Amino acid sequence: MRKNIVAGNWKMNTTLQEGVKLAEEVNEALKNTSAKCDVVICTPFTHLASVASVIDANILGLGAENCADHVSGAYTGEVSAAMVASTGARYVILGHSERRQYYGETAETLREKVALALANGLTPIFCIGEVLAERENGTYNEVVKAQIVDGLFQLSAEDFGKIILAYEPVWAIGTGKTATADQAQDMHAHIRNVIADKYGKEIADNTSILYGGSCKASNAPELFSKPDVDGGLIGGASLKCADFMGIVNAF
Ligand code: PEP
Repeated sequence: MRKNIVAGNWKMNTTLQEGVKLAEEVNEALKNTSAKCDVVICTPFTHLASVASVIDANILGLGAENCADHVSGAYTGEVSAAMVASTGARYVILGHSERRQYYGETAETLREKVALALANGLTPIFCIGEVLAERENGTYNEVVKAQIVDGLFQLSAEDFGKIILAYEPVWAIGTGKTATADQAQDMHAHIRNVIADKYGKEIADNTSILYGGSCKASNAPELFSKPDVDGGLIGGASLKCADFMGIVNAF
């Protein structure tokens, strides 16, 4: 059975001290609530080991926001999947639209990153989503399908079963403009069909597909009520404990 998941993407926000405090707050809040979904925070690399040491991994998962497309060696400034895993993190966001757009991530580099993440026991949260022009010219279904095919369909069925998908329409990220719950549902159903065509209905039904893009406590209940929306990847609203918990409690 697929899981409901709410995952925070802190992006390049918080100092180490602020991040550890926020992680402690979320961990404490989760201790005092019976969350009906898995909860994950994805933090800057610099925060991972410290955050891992203050949270209870049984109630709050930890992830990175990226990893390198090489195993190790002369790649100044890069952080490998093995390094991420060695901090205690269990997840890694891959293919976020900001990385595709600003750092030139291609399907080819993403295939390497996915393989290395899996080889090191990390669960990829693999992001896909169309830009505004593609939404407006009606090519969004094909665009998202191509991102899945090119980035993930090299995987065996067993490995594909370890992937979490996050549908993040780029026009909705950080803009305050959320996709409607019906737009999200239509795309998530499309994504599930694309997966079913390649790997079969059982694997498609077991894949968690999160929605991301200006998700907040006020719109999460309607989004999460849709049958193919299995939770959210949360940017801005993951930076304050109360806002994030408002989304967690939407389940
Ligand atoms: C994101 O960048 O993953 C995201 C969903 O951001 P926001 O919630 O701020 O739109």
